[in-house]
Amino acid sequence: MLTGENNLRLLAEPQNIIITTHHKPDGDALGSSLGLYHWLKGKGHEVHVVLSSDFPDFLDWMPGRNEAIIYPEAREKADLLFQKAAIIFCLDYSALSRTNVLENVIRDAPGQKWMIDHHLDPEDFASLTYWDSHAAATAQLVYTFITEVNQDVTAITADIATCLYAGIMTDTGSFRFKSTTSAVHHIIAKLIDAGARNWEIHEHIYNSSTENRLKFLGYCLLNCLEVIPEYNTALFAVTKDDLEKFQVTTGDTEGLVNYALSVKGIRLAALFIDRTELIKLSLRSIGEIPCNEICRKYFNGGGHLNAAGGSSNEELSKVVERFKSVLPEYSEILTT
Ligand code: 5GP
Ligand code: MN
Repeated sequence: MLTGENNLRLLAEPQNIIITTHHKPDGDALGSSLGLYHWLKGKGHEVHVVLSSDFPDFLDWMPGRNEAIIYPEAREKADLLFQKAAIIFCLDYSALSRTNVLENVIRDAPGQKWMIDHHLDPEDFASLTYWDSHAAATAQLVYTFITEVNQDVTAITADIATCLYAGIMTDTGSFRFKSTTSAVHHIIAKLIDAGARNWEIHEHIYNSSTENRLKFLGYCLLNCLEVIPEYNTALFAVTKDDLEKFQVTTGDTEGLVNYALSVKGIRLAALFIDRTELIKLSLRSIGEIPCNEICRKYFNGGGHLNAAGGSSNEELSKVVERFKSVLPEYSEILTT
């Protein structure tokens, strides 16, 4: 769905542009942002990617990441850029609250907001929206935004292709999820043709664990995994002490929840992490079990049907208890 396409005319002239994405960017958030960044720069615009936080080490190779501005580290400079920007792209989020410290900065900025996203229930803040909840990744939408909406097929450089490939790869769990349609594979083929070195990107992302991260994974598998067979559900509850013991950093917990889902017969998996200021929760499911509904109703969050997240101010054991108390409500779809 594309709305506000009249505004696309703005791109005919060089503009001051800012690209934003959600807090704690994942592969799709950073990949789609940097992919778009390279394309807009190539068109002669003055472009800055502004992030609300740092990003995981396993993304610390993407072309352009060193030019991204981390807002809390450069507030004054970034505030000036927000005042000047004619267009603020909002990538891989559909609610401004997902940008954390940037929420009000974006809301109050004078420029147009252009949303490119695949999350459900988009908030109404953008003057241009390119949105499709069936898209496998925002990076996929950035690809079609460039090649179809702006009809710029020949503009995909190796840097753009590399960033977009990484975004699609991470949001599809390496092309495993249901969202991985043949159209996605066609785009991936085009990205490889344009210079994305697929094997190298897989190496960067999946073979870059620190020793601590791997030991933390082993620790969680051994000590924090709880299987609830009567509801085909499995969960990890990770305490503050666990995080400290293994010096867990941004991104180290990425993918952990999938190990709970990989237990045979498990249809719903949860990861609870005590991040001190709040408990962060990640849900993953198979089939029709609505992670987004559970997160929205009980954990102040949302997301996709099979992958969603939320948070709570209660203590860890209480949040886990609440999650368990919700399971009977979904008993039928969990057990059939
Ligand atoms: P993750 O579990 O990897 O943190 O997030 C999975 C998906 O859940 C994200 O792509 C996002 O759509 C959604 N999500 C995660 N945390 C939140 C949250 O706090 N609020 C909302 N609305 N969605 C979230
Ligand atoms: Mn995404």
